[in-house]
Amino acid sequence: MMPPGASRLLPLTVSDVRQFVYCPRIPYFRLGLRLLHRFVTSAMREGQAEHARTEALEERRSLRAYGLTDGERHFDVALHSEGLALGGRLDMAIVRAGEVVPVEFKNSREGLGLNHKYQLTAYAMLAEERFERPARRAFVYFIPLKRAQQVEITPAMRGYTRRVLGAIRDAVAQERMPAGTRALNRCRVCEFLPYCNDRW
Ligand code: SF4
Repeated sequence: MMPPGASRLLPLTVSDVRQFVYCPRIPYFRLGLRLLHRFVTSAMREGQAEHARTEALEERRSLRAYGLTDGERHFDVALHSEGLALGGRLDMAIVRAGEVVPVEFKNSREGLGLNHKYQLTAYAMLAEERFERPARRAFVYFIPLKRAQQVEITPAMRGYTRRVLGAIRDAVAQERMPAGTRALNRCRVCEFLPYCNDRW
C-alpha cells in the first residue's frame, strides 16, 4: 500500500525533460530499459570543476549580469514537486519579493537549444512551488563567455513541459520505444547508438 500523499506517477527528473526534448528515446532507455550510462570523461570532470568555481565566484559577484539590483541567491537548490512527481537540483535561485528566477550555469559557448529552454521551464515550475512565488523568467549563465541569457517562461512552455512528462511516462508504462530525434547528427555522438538499430 502506498503511503498517504505519495504520488502514483513515475518519478522523473528535470534531466529527463531536457533529454526527451533532445531525443525522446534517451529517457526511455534510462527508465524503460534501465540502461544506465554514466561515463565521466575528463572533459566532464573539467566542466564540473569549472561549475564549482563559477558558484564560488558567483557568491561575490553582483546581480548585474542578470540586470537585477536585488535578490537573495540560493545555490545548488534541491527542488521537488509531489504533484508533478518531478525533482532536480538547480544551480542557483534568485529569490525576490515578487518572483523567483532560476539560473543554470552552462560550461559552453554554444547557444541555447530547445532542450535547455524546457529544462529551465521545468526548473521554473519547481522553483515556484518551493519558493511560493511566480517564475516568469530564467537565465542561463555561460561560464566561458561570462554572460547571462534570459529566457521567458511562457504558459505554452509550461504546457509543453507537462506533455513531455506525460509522454515519458506513457512510453515507459506501455514499453513502447519512442521515435528518435530527426537531427541525425546527434546520433553520431550518442552513447545509446548501439541500441538504435534504425540509425546505423
Ligand atoms: S542514437 Fe539517435 S535516436 Fe538513438 S537515442 Fe541517440 S540520439 Fe536518439
